[in-house]
Amino acid sequence: MLDLAIIGGGPAGLTAGLYSTRGGLKDVTMFELGLPGGQITQSSEIENYPGQIEVVTGMKLMDKWPKQCSRFGLEIKMAEVKQITKSNNIFTLILADKSQIQAKSVLIATGSVPKSAGIKGEAEFFGKGVSTCATCDGFFYKNKDVAVIGGGDTAVEEAIFLANICKTVYIIHRRDSFRASPHEVEKLNQYKNIIQIMNHSTEEIIGDNTGVTGIAIKSKKTNELKTLDTLGVFIFVGRDVLNQTLIQQDGTFLCDTNEAGEVVVDLKMRTSISGLFAAGDIRIDAPKQVVCAAGDGAIAGIEAISYLQ
Ligand code: FAD
Ligand code: NAP
Repeated sequence: MLDLAIIGGGPAGLTAGLYSTRGGLKDVTMFELGLPGGQITQSSEIENYPGQIEVVTGMKLMDKWPKQCSRFGLEIKMAEVKQITKSNNIFTLILADKSQIQAKSVLIATGSVPKSAGIKGEAEFFGKGVSTCATCDGFFYKNKDVAVIGGGDTAVEEAIFLANICKTVYIIHRRDSFRASPHEVEKLNQYKNIIQIMNHSTEEIIGDNTGVTGIAIKSKKTNELKTLDTLGVFIFVGRDVLNQTLIQQDGTFLCDTNEAGEVVVDLKMRTSISGLFAAGDIRIDAPKQVVCAAGDGAIAGIEAISYLQ
């Protein structure tokens, strides 16, 4: 019987592992389906982690985190968790090999991943001009022209964020009205350096060995093709929240989630089910940054100790 089972070995899960073991919990295991480190290991450069002065790859940033946790007794198990259930105050984890693990408390920190728009050149130039994170990469395009693809709240909010850094932001949406809330659209309309291109599809992200150089867009009304010279292309077409482990036999979630499937938590990372915590990108209102996920993990680790006491 584990004191705490942590699902997901990104910045949130690892930091929870550090705080819970260093805080005195004895039987803590973190389950990670791949290599520990989380999605930041896919990034070729990170320059906004506090105290990390030189720009490093995500892999380098995360390299020492598991070793630090192991020092305090965190067990790391390479396994995919398929389902979490709770009965008689005990959680059961079902792993991909069908084995079962019991735990007194659980932290879910499996994150969420941006959806791909399926545009030609999107995968080829990912990390070389194509990005899914304005907070992470917007600064690289200071006073330059960029494009944002999407028409939801995220695309609109991130276009506004980029407009405060970049020279011109083209927001390209496939329909004639935004999906984003009227309030966000009203804010967008106030920015003179955001050019709204509605009813257009993005046909291709163009580039060379230096990275992205522009995008080809097509009018849905006239079929006219146009090229925009942009060095950055930010894609915000929704996210897949990795919450499948919470789905119960009857199809409902084990705890409360919002419309997008993100886990509802309070400021202590407690979910609607006692003993179940959520941290990092999987939770509601997550800023989707390494430092924030790590902060959440620390809170959840501390709270798990308190819950078990
Ligand atoms: P993740 O890091 O997503 O970790 C979740 C982990 O759970 C993964 O390792 C996954 O394999 C595992 N997992 C999922 N499901 C299961 C399961 N069923 N069983 C077991 N394990 C499971 N942030 C910044 O602060 N600065 C940046 O510059 C920056 N750049 C980025 C660049 C890229 C290309 C990407 C993709 C992200 C970037 N981010 C950046 C965002 C940052 O990576 C995330 O906000 C952060 O990693 C979230 O941490 P997390 O622990 O919540 O989730
Ligand atoms: P979303 O609401 O699902 O919007 C995705 C957008 O991308 C839509 O405009 C969609 O177009 C477009 N799109 C999807 N696939 C595409 C493709 N292949 N090519 C081009 N465009 C494509 O996703 P989101 O903006 O990430 O928001 C997710 C949820 O979080 C929503 O519930 C949102 O309200 C919420 N959220 C809220 C806030 C806030 O309240 N401040 C901030 C951010 C997010 P269509 O419109 O044509 O479908």
